[in-house]
Amino acid sequence: MDHVDVVVIGAGVVGLAIASELAKKNQDLYVIEKETAIGQGTSSRNSEVIHAGIYYAKDTLKAKLCVKANPMIYQICEKGKIPHKKLGKIIVGNGEDEIKQLEDLIRKGESNGVTDLKLIDSEEVKKLEPKVRADKAVLSPSTGILDAHSLMDYFLRDARSKMGADPLVLDTEVIGLKKIKDGFIINTLSGGEAYSLEASVVINSAGLFSDKIAERIGLNIDELGYRIHLCKGDYFSLTGKPPAKMLVYPPPLQDTLGLGIHTVPDLTGRLKFGPNAYYVNDIDYRVESTTEPFWKDIITYLPEIKRDDLHPDMSGIRPKLQGPGEPAKDFVIKHEEKSGFPGFFNLIGIESPGLTCSPAIAEMVAEMVNSYLY
Ligand SMILES: Cc1cc2nc3c(=O)[nH]c(=O)nc-3n(C[C@H](O)[C@H](O)[C@H](O)COP(=O)(O)OP(=O)(O)OC[C@H]3O[C@@H](n4cnc5c(N)ncnc54)[C@H](O)[C@@H]3O)c2cc1C
Repeated sequence: MDHVDVVVIGAGVVGLAIASELAKKNQDLYVIEKETAIGQGTSSRNSEVIHAGIYYAKDTLKAKLCVKANPMIYQICEKGKIPHKKLGKIIVGNGEDEIKQLEDLIRKGESNGVTDLKLIDSEEVKKLEPKVRADKAVLSPSTGILDAHSLMDYFLRDARSKMGADPLVLDTEVIGLKKIKDGFIINTLSGGEAYSLEASVVINSAGLFSDKIAERIGLNIDELGYRIHLCKGDYFSLTGKPPAKMLVYPPPLQDTLGLGIHTVPDLTGRLKFGPNAYYVNDIDYRVESTTEPFWKDIITYLPEIKRDDLHPDMSGIRPKLQGPGEPAKDFVIKHEEKSGFPGFFNLIGIESPGLTCSPAIAEMVAEMVNSYLY
């Protein structure tokens, strides 16, 4: 049976970032992906926003990794010639309650280490975005957008060039995992053919399926709080000229599962709105939402938008650890040594801001893996 040092399960942005980071030291690694191309999961179904790290509870991995990764992403984009734009973002508020939320948000962001936030008044908002209606807004200059596929291509190219070999194994599903004395047996299925290999380290970055992978090795995912709840977000595209250049967000609601329906500009100049957030039982990417509630949310800050100019566009599914009615949960990034699986690393619940965090997640995981292996 073939033996490798490391198997990464999943070629989304997180698995590929980890491969590129591990390849600095470790040349003996595979990234196993069930689809026929990279990035066919959540990594290609999101808002492609480079977040600053404002919203997340202090000292969580989400907050720490996002604040760390924001400048890393811009550096990677420059170095790798990855299309991106530092558009800046405004989070708008109308009325006393919402303005209070904005002030709280600035305090939260600052306590996370975001240093460039500013509360601006309606005049300043008008100068930046004349069509946006807001009494006040939080300005986040370091928020931007990028092309997620180019980022994934970059991580893969980087891993290949450091290794002088190709770590990527496509069209191969991990269907079984077994702990052995010094590692794991990984059973896969590719084009109907079964194939097994051994690895000293397994990194589970299987996105929406990461709880199932953890379960397969023998972890009790309910006891550990690893069960994933699928939380869908739909987007609607706007026909006609975009009414705003920047990212424009509503204030976050107390019980929201996402960040509210915001503008989602892309690098071609088109504009979408989204994503909303609702739990689903199955992975089905058809847009299920109706236009009316979307439009009603949007016109609170962009009153000129016409309902008939909105059209169902795409959707993505968040791998949430937070179940219905529960508080927000942090990423799980963990070496399962204490649970009896030394060499098994779980990445579960990597929802937003996972795209932004990917290089910082990769550094964290590589440090854990290297200190285990060497
Ligand atoms: C609606 C929405 C909007 C978002 N917006 C943003 C944003 O603007 N900014 C931001 O930073 N983040 C955003 N995110 C979060 C971000 O998209 C994710 O955190 C990130 O893409 C997760 O990447 P991943 O590699 O962990 O998962 P994935 O991209 O899902 O990759 C996992 C891979 O594992 C593979 N796989 C699964 N099971 C197996 C198996 N058994 N064998 C082999 N391969 C397997 C899958 O096919 C998949 O390719 C958003 C997410 C959603 C849903």
